[in-house]
Amino acid sequence: MDYKKLAERLFPGAYPTPEEYERRYPPRDLPAGAEVTRLAPSPTGFIHLGNLFAAIANERVAHRSGGVLYLRIEDTDLKRKVDGAVEAVIRALRYFDITFDEGAEIGGSDLYAPWYQRERAEIYRAFAKRLVEQGRAYPCFCTEEELAALREEQTAKKLVTGYYGAYAKCRSLGEEEIYRNLDAGKPYVLRLRSLGDAEKKIKFRDAVKGEITVTENDQDIVILKSDGIPTYHFAHAIDDHFMRTTLVIRGEEWLASLPIHLELFGALGFKPPRYGHNCSLMKQDGPTRRKLSKRKDPELALEFYRKEGYFPRAVKVYMLTLLNSNFEEWYLKNPEAPLETFPYKVEKMGKSGALFDLDKLNDISKSELARLTAEEMLAFLKGWAEEFGSDAEKAYFVEEEKLLSALSLCMGVGGKKRRKDFVTASQAMKTISYFFAAPVREDEYAVDAPTRRALLDGFLARYDEADDSAAWFAKVKEVAAENGFAAEMRDFKASPENYRGSVADVAEVLRIAVTGRANTPDLWTIMHILGGEETRARVARAKEEA
Ligand code: GLU
Repeated sequence: MDYKKLAERLFPGAYPTPEEYERRYPPRDLPAGAEVTRLAPSPTGFIHLGNLFAAIANERVAHRSGGVLYLRIEDTDLKRKVDGAVEAVIRALRYFDITFDEGAEIGGSDLYAPWYQRERAEIYRAFAKRLVEQGRAYPCFCTEEELAALREEQTAKKLVTGYYGAYAKCRSLGEEEIYRNLDAGKPYVLRLRSLGDAEKKIKFRDAVKGEITVTENDQDIVILKSDGIPTYHFAHAIDDHFMRTTLVIRGEEWLASLPIHLELFGALGFKPPRYGHNCSLMKQDGPTRRKLSKRKDPELALEFYRKEGYFPRAVKVYMLTLLNSNFEEWYLKNPEAPLETFPYKVEKMGKSGALFDLDKLNDISKSELARLTAEEMLAFLKGWAEEFGSDAEKAYFVEEEKLLSALSLCMGVGGKKRRKDFVTASQAMKTISYFFAAPVREDEYAVDAPTRRALLDGFLARYDEADDSAAWFAKVKEVAAENGFAAEMRDFKASPENYRGSVADVAEVLRIAVTGRANTPDLWTIMHILGGEETRARVARAKEEA
């Protein structure tokens, strides 16, 4: 077989040589030990937690080593370009402080561009041509129907399915038949002529999983589809070589393709990068653990975290906890240190499924938010509200003094122990809503309506906004006593049968009247923030409604 002639027929004209490409994309000029990592998403418009999980690992490894993180867009599978998808990836990751040094729409160095695989047709064709010249790739004219029949036959015989060995029909097509097919304009794909043996094992050192054994590839995988677009495998080998990636951290779902990739790198004459296969994020679902699913779990979408207003650092802390086994301990010892100073290690990455638990994230979120000053909290909420808040919520920021007082109170700023009332921005905005709008009653009164009327009336008769907390509370006690409630808790505890309740029940009525809720921070302070007029109006309204 004259492979040169075939290559010229399939890819007419001159293409740059491998040496020319090597010169065009020279090894990167970086200090020893610097890692070049990348994110290579498909621009589907859907960015998920797994992307963030891998992004944090890649980002940490690159930037801690003084290397480079770049963004490559793997758009070979897309029938249509999804508008804004690349910007969405960048924005979603920037929220979590993941910044790229170069890549699609990044604006860094373009020495290794183009960053969109669709724009890299020439280089894929150049190397495909070369593989044909060397007899390592061949055109396959099998139709979908033929491939389906082959699969059926193999399944019936309980054989491994696929295009390999004796089943790779077009592998041994004669020259004449190939040209006849080409002359007839028959569509074809280009396949790798695999030299692998599925009986043979390869020992492989994965940067995350350690020493693993995989089986050699023997499948004649497609490298260029019938429209000339490369498959993921082929583009991956060429791009990661010429973009000079040193370490590929990707999801473990790619582990099964590793033998293909190792063979491809070999066939192309490239040294493969190091690989680290990152464990998948799992969810406890009843008695079983399963992968997070797009259909069932809204928390898989990264958009969920921005919309809900998760504090980015909290999500990052949780991701780091799942990513690196020594993070939690480090963080306990260094709660104030910037996360960038954590000595992230690929070797400390989890080898098998990480359990993602939203409750755990919520706990971390509470603690992280409880570390902010009221001013920082305000800035965070403002950023969220500008994008996702209702008009009413946006208006909270007009009364900045009041908002700061409300936040300080709900966060326990200046108190002995910080409160942990806030989980996310959306939840925090709802939590503080009663400071800005008439309360919506969320909790039921424990006291009947006539008694409520009497208590609220008694309070209104005495209330003076100038009272300090002690004077105010003394009056609440008076209202209690006047209505048959124990003014002192100890009296009530000693003989509850003598009372209709205690001062705590009276305070609860006032609390629900003013805030709509049975649980809030200090009620005197809330009334103080609301001001005398508003407090009076709310108590009066509650009385009318009783
Ligand atoms: N385009 C692949 C994906 O989105 C990239 C996998 C890799 O990192 O190599 O899953």
